[in-house]
Amino acid sequence: MFTVNSKFKFDCRQDLSCFTRCCREINIYLTPYDVLRMKNNLQISSEEFLQKYTVVVLAANTGLPVVLLKMDRQTGRCPFVTEKGCQIYADRPWSCRMYPLNQEEDGSYSLVTDHTHCFGLAENREWKVGEWLDDQGITAYNEVEMLFGKIGAHLKSSGQKIQNRNIQEMYFMACYNLDKFKRFLLESSFLKVFDVDRETVEKIKTSDLELLKFGFQWVLFGVADNKTFKIRDEVLEAKRKQLSKKA
Ligand code: SF4
Ligand code: SF4
Repeated sequence: MFTVNSKFKFDCRQDLSCFTRCCREINIYLTPYDVLRMKNNLQISSEEFLQKYTVVVLAANTGLPVVLLKMDRQTGRCPFVTEKGCQIYADRPWSCRMYPLNQEEDGSYSLVTDHTHCFGLAENREWKVGEWLDDQGITAYNEVEMLFGKIGAHLKSSGQKIQNRNIQEMYFMACYNLDKFKRFLLESSFLKVFDVDRETVEKIKTSDLELLKFGFQWVLFGVADNKTFKIRDEVLEAKRKQLSKKA
């Protein structure tokens, strides 16, 4: 078990005979922020990205969709690996940045492999875990991952397993299929029903990251009923009138 102050030796270089070995026959779970960055790096829509490059399964414990990077069926290789390394290096997923480390549930760190598989672990360059995380740009992920983690944490603490297909689909759209989620927000009656301030609407129109944060809040509103979203007064009033007419 490592802390941020623990030291380990590691140097990944193109001249090592294991170069790109870690980019095949491996399960890579994609976070919503991974999908956002990868689809933007490739300049394609979230729908196209998810369809071409991912496999979606339902998590046994939460019932929520989990997204994995689809490896080539024949070679087991990642679709983005080239002889020179990662084609989308600047926006590679969180778990590729972490490698050869992994973060445990209790927040500690561990090595996912050893020097017999990853020859970089037999090299002499010394890192503190914290230095490695900074070097790999992990810090930029922390805020977004923390917000995303609230959804799983809520389900865990309440012991809820989502089995309603509409909620599973809404979760998937709001967290992973951002382009579709944006259309849903801006082109459906959503903004007529929910009271969302203009500044927020502008942000979700212009920033995928703000759209994603909004998506997390929307999901939390759905699963935790946390009152984040307010229904417009006129909508409530119309509903009241409708009900009193029926009565
Ligand atoms: S196996 Fe280790 S040293 Fe080899 S390319 Fe992958 S991370 Fe680098
Ligand atoms: S995304 Fe890049 S770093 Fe990650 S497995 Fe694929 S090629 Fe390797």
